[in-house]
This record gives sequence, structure tokens and C-alpha cells, in this order.
Amino acid sequence: MPNIDAVVPEKLSLNTRFRFRCHKGIKCFTKCCSNIDILLTPYDIIRMKNRLGMTSGEFLLTYTYVKIDEKSSHPHIFLKMSDDKSRRCPFVTPEGCTIYSDRPANCRYYPIGQGTLKRQGKDGPEEEEFYFFVKEPHCLGYKEDKEWTIESWRIDQGVDLYDRMNSEWKGIHLRRNLPGQTGLDDRKQAMFYIASYDIDNFRRFVFDGGLLDLFVIDDETIGKMREDEVELMRFGFRYLRYIMMIDETLKIKDEVLKARRKKS
Ligand code: SF4
Ligand code: SF4
Repeated sequence: MPNIDAVVPEKLSLNTRFRFRCHKGIKCFTKCCSNIDILLTPYDIIRMKNRLGMTSGEFLLTYTYVKIDEKSSHPHIFLKMSDDKSRRCPFVTPEGCTIYSDRPANCRYYPIGQGTLKRQGKDGPEEEEFYFFVKEPHCLGYKEDKEWTIESWRIDQGVDLYDRMNSEWKGIHLRRNLPGQTGLDDRKQAMFYIASYDIDNFRRFVFDGGLLDLFVIDDETIGKMREDEVELMRFGFRYLRYIMMIDETLKIKDEVLKARRKKS
């Protein structure tokens, strides 16, 4: 996982080749799982809380802390490390990661870092994805002989699925980080947290909180959201884009509008 001080910011492409191997017999095994800050995404949290058999609320309370991004005012979630000097990940043991097949995207990328450059283009916001090596002195994997491209590493680590799952959510951050955007008020900030990270709470909000009476949402979408929490997560991104006024992703029902007009 990247320690930001150790990042070598040379921009790499998917075809860039490198040598690396990480295995149980290597001297530095699990050294990268301490003294780090791991930012979690919505899909990371779904995978981890299910792996641990917890609700999203329990997971967030036990294993994470929140930092408010100064620029965008978005809440960001980080994995809580041990309180002692070592700052160890709660899931690391001498045998390795105990949640390996559900580890977060940042752990999968390591020792590659990923960034997105954003700028306001002529026809709207433009983004450029790039990669960089994270070369930390304790990591000996670069001395091994297995050859990769960035692309083959991503596929091997399963990180392409995570990126697909989170791409719409990342888009919200990028749009909101452009110049001229205002911060979120308290209500929107709280909803950003629930819709992004607390999926079990968001389910209650959607199905028991009257949201389905408010917006035009087809039965197929409702059925998918009931059965599949990834679909619910995707709806959460759609809802955030609506309340943050990024796009008109939802339509208020005519009868709701009429009733509102009558009242005013
Ligand atoms: S989640 Fe697993 S891979 Fe990631 S830091 Fe913790 S122990 Fe290491
Ligand atoms: S080789 Fe690097 S990634 Fe693998 S265990 Fe060692 S420090 Fe961690």
C-alpha cells in the first residue's frame, strides 16, 4: 500500500514492464501491511463486511475512521490500524492477510499506485488515468525475477473488477473536485457517507424511508436492488449524482410534484 512519501511519480502506461514477485518466503513478507493509510471504496467495504459476516454499520464502527476531504468536503473512509507504534492492519498475521481474496483495491494495486488527473476541458471535465511505481525501501519484491506489465498485474490481482465497480463513484469525486464547486452541506455530507459506505443503512433509507414513493424507478431496477447489494450500491451512486446536482439521474413522480404545487 502506498506510503505517499515514498511514491515515485513517474507516469506509467498499461504496457509498462516491471519485475516483481511477492511470496510467503520473502524476507519482507507482510511488512507492507503496517504503518500505512488505506483509503476504502464502496465496493471494498461491501466485500470486506460480507467476508467478516458483519453489517456495514458494524464494519464501519469497528474497522474504519472518517476524514473529511478539505477541498471537496466529501467524507473519506480509512482502515483503522492498531494504536501502537507499528500501526498494523487488523487483518495481518504472520501467515499473511486473513481476508486476502476480499482485500481492498489499494492492497491489490500495491506496488503500483494509480492516479487520475482532472482538468476542465473545452467540452467539460477531462480525466487521464495513470500509474506509478511505489518503491518503498522495505519491499524486496522488485528484486525478484517475475515479469509483468501493469495490465497483466491488474488482471492477476483482480483489481480491474474493483475499478469497474467504483468508477462511477470516482467520477463523482472528480466532478466535485473541479474549480468552482461548493462544499456539501451537513445533510448531503451525511447522505454521501450512507450511500457510499453504509449499504445496509442505505437499504433501509431506500425501502423503508419513502424514497420509492418520491422518484420514478422501474420495477426491474427495484427488484435488482432488493436482491443484489451491488445494484443497490450503483443506485446509491445514481442518487448521489442527483442530490449533488451533477446530473438529472432521477425524476420526481408527477403526483408528488402536483401535491407540492398544491401545498405552495
Ligand atoms: S487488508 Fe490484507 S493486504 Fe491489505 S494491509 Fe491489511 S493485511 Fe495487508
Ligand atoms: S514483497 Fe513487497 S508487497 Fe510483498 S510482502 Fe514484501 S513488502 Fe509486501
